[in-house]
Amino acid sequence: MGNLSPKQAHSNRPMKPTLLTEPAEFQAWCLSQKREGKRIGLVPTMGALHDGHLSLIDACAPHCDLKTVSIFVNPSQFGPQEDYEKYPRALDSDLEKLTLRNVDVVFAPETSAMYPDGCTTLVQPPAIASVLEGAMRPGHFQGVVTVVLKLLNLSLADVAVFGQKDYQQLAVIRQMVADLNVATRIIGAPIVREADGLAMSSRNRYLSAEERPAALALSQSLQEVTELFQSGCRDGRELAASLMQVLIDGGVDTADYAVIADAQSLEIVDTITQPAVALVAAHVGQTRLIDNCLLQS
Ligand code: AMP
Repeated sequence: MGNLSPKQAHSNRPMKPTLLTEPAEFQAWCLSQKREGKRIGLVPTMGALHDGHLSLIDACAPHCDLKTVSIFVNPSQFGPQEDYEKYPRALDSDLEKLTLRNVDVVFAPETSAMYPDGCTTLVQPPAIASVLEGAMRPGHFQGVVTVVLKLLNLSLADVAVFGQKDYQQLAVIRQMVADLNVATRIIGAPIVREADGLAMSSRNRYLSAEERPAALALSQSLQEVTELFQSGCRDGRELAASLMQVLIDGGVDTADYAVIADAQSLEIVDTITQPAVALVAAHVGQTRLIDNCLLQS
C-alpha cells in the first residue's frame, strides 16, 4: 500500500492500467519487475476488445504476478487487399475494460515505434504455417510470428496466452517458440462464443443484421460435425463434406476451406484415429470469419 495515495488506498475502485507506448519503456518496466522476482503475463491483442480477449486475461492471471496486454494492429500480418485500414480501433473503451480486469500495464505502440525505418528483419514461420490460413493469406503468419517474437522479447513474459479461436495461429506460435528456444510458456484458451454460437471476433461488428444468420453457419457446421463424430463417423472426407454443406446451405458467400485435420500437425485426415480438429473459414459479405472445434473421443 506504500505507494498509493490516500484516495487510492481507501477506494475499492480498480486502478487504470499504466499505458506505455514506447517499446524501450515497456521492456525496461518488464525487466525491472522481473529483477524483483515478479512473473510477467502477456496477452497480445489487436484491440477492439470483447469477452474472448478478456477470457485470455483470466486464463493468464493464475500464472503471473503482473498482467500485461498489448494492443497493436500489426500491419505486417494484413494482406494488401485486407482490412488493415478499417480494422476497428477503440483504445479508450479497451482501457476501461482492462481496468475492470486489473491489468497492470497496457502496451499500445505506434506502428513507427514497432517498425522504425530500417527495421527489415522478418521471422520465417514454421512449416505448419503454409496450409489453411497461410495458404489463403500469403505472408500473414510471417507478420504474426515476427510481431509475437518482438512482443515476447520486449515483455520477457513468463507466460503468454493465445486463443484457440485462431487454432492454427496458436500452433504456429507454439512451434516458433519451441524452434527458437523462447523461454515464454504459451497457453491456449478456449473459444468464447456469443449466445447464438457465433465465435466472438472484433470483425463481427462488420456484420449487418441481414448477414448475421449466414455468419452462424460456421458454428452450426461445427455443431453438426461434432454430432456426426459423436455418432461414430470417423471418415474425414465425409465429415469435411458435412461442414461444407452446412456452410453453403447456411448462405455464406464463399467458403475458403472446411477441413478435418490432425490436431497437432494440421495435416488433412482421412480416418480419425487420434485427436483431430474441424476448421472452417468463409466470407459473409465483406467479412471473413474463421472457426474451429476439436474432435476427440
Ligand atoms: P486479435 O485481437 O483478434 O488478434 O486476438 C487476440 C487474441 O485473442 C488471439 O490470441 C485470439 O486467438 C484471441 N481471441 C480472439 N477471439 C477469441 C474468442 N472468441 N475466444 C477466445 N480467444 C479469442
